Amino acid sequence: MSKVFFFNIPFHGHVNPSLGLVRELVKNGEEVIYYCNESFRGKIESTGAVFRGYSDKFYLDENYVTYNLTDLFQVHLELSALILDELIEDVKKDKPAYIIHDTMCPWGKHLSKITNIPAVNTFTTLALEPDGFFLTAGFALALAFTIVKNIPNMTKIRKTKKLIESKYNIKVSSLLDIVLNKEELNLVYTSKEFQPKSEKLIKRYRFVGPSSMYRIENMPELKLNRNTDRPLIFISMGTIFNNNIEFFNICTKAFENMDIDVLMSVGKSIDIPSLSIPDNFTVKYYFEVPQLEILKECNIFMTHGGMNSTQEGLFFGVPLIIIPQQQEQAHVAMQVVRSGSGICLKKSKITSELLKNTVDKIMSDRSYRENALRMRDSFIKAGGPGKAVKEILLYVGRKKIINTSI
Ligand code: UDP
Repeated sequence: MSKVFFFNIPFHGHVNPSLGLVRELVKNGEEVIYYCNESFRGKIESTGAVFRGYSDKFYLDENYVTYNLTDLFQVHLELSALILDELIEDVKKDKPAYIIHDTMCPWGKHLSKITNIPAVNTFTTLALEPDGFFLTAGFALALAFTIVKNIPNMTKIRKTKKLIESKYNIKVSSLLDIVLNKEELNLVYTSKEFQPKSEKLIKRYRFVGPSSMYRIENMPELKLNRNTDRPLIFISMGTIFNNNIEFFNICTKAFENMDIDVLMSVGKSIDIPSLSIPDNFTVKYYFEVPQLEILKECNIFMTHGGMNSTQEGLFFGVPLIIIPQQQEQAHVAMQVVRSGSGICLKKSKITSELLKNTVDKIMSDRSYRENALRMRDSFIKAGGPGKAVKEILLYVGRKKIINTSI
């Protein structure tokens, strides 16, 4: 039995896929100390891991939303500088055998470099490599433009990078790597079939399949306003980009007279009573919706294309309508379109008419469902949390042999 430090950021989209993996580690006798924010304590403890809160200096919380990549770089690097001293003290006390971190936790990677403890990275989205999909010419140009427009952030990033490098005598990787903290072993929560260019990434990457559907949802049952003979459409923009009231109004208008039932999950800042809700709709806040249970019985899932929501939908064989809210989701959407399991719509082009027609199109073409089921098979074949734990233990065992023979 080994002690493990697991680092994550306080967002459902990052914590949910880790829960199945952590439960499996605990089942294998590992003692997992899982760092996150207090609001995630319940979810984390339900896996058998020991929850540990970050120090008071850790100011990121689940209400943080930004569309600006340089904000992300700046905040995540600064957080690392703020909490590393305390994490080093924790390492001295607990002596973990290895570290697992979410890809957006540079402090996990930095701590591993400082203490020489092996670390495994977990990707909650598709794996990104310089020759991969993310660094297309268009993206590189957009990034360059963002950098030029955000000089104060860039100055702060440079200063923090220097500080970390000189204080801890480590090299801090390049800009994009602040939020893609790759290690020798990188676990990607998807299948080779869903990952673009997976054949090029095989060396350092293991495609272990999505994992967020292996979590246990301790939520009260949700009573839907529904006639079970009719198809059910589930609309959710996830847990972050979910406060666009105009979009929800377009949805109610699109489906109010259709012979379907609709469940719509909305964000905290939407005042549900102020919406005009048709009889065939149930509207709930996202934290009231047990998404996995709903997906088991729904016919079409209209999603923002978050990696977890997308794969959860496909795991239950549900065809998707994806309306990406940002770049990463647009890429996930491309894989769905490529696999024939759904349709992607541009958020700027959404009208009630378009939504209605898209639902009709998916309902009248069985191939979307068949392709969703094909993706489901690829996810199951990828192995899930059991495979992820095998890969981790193999890697850590190898590192141990190398370290003791030096
Ligand atoms: N989720 C949920 N109920 C909702 C909306 C989302 O349980 O009404 C869960 C969903 O099952 C998924 C996570 O929250 O596991 C959202 O992650 P995703 O990567 O899809 O999107 P994000 O919220 O990070 O944008």
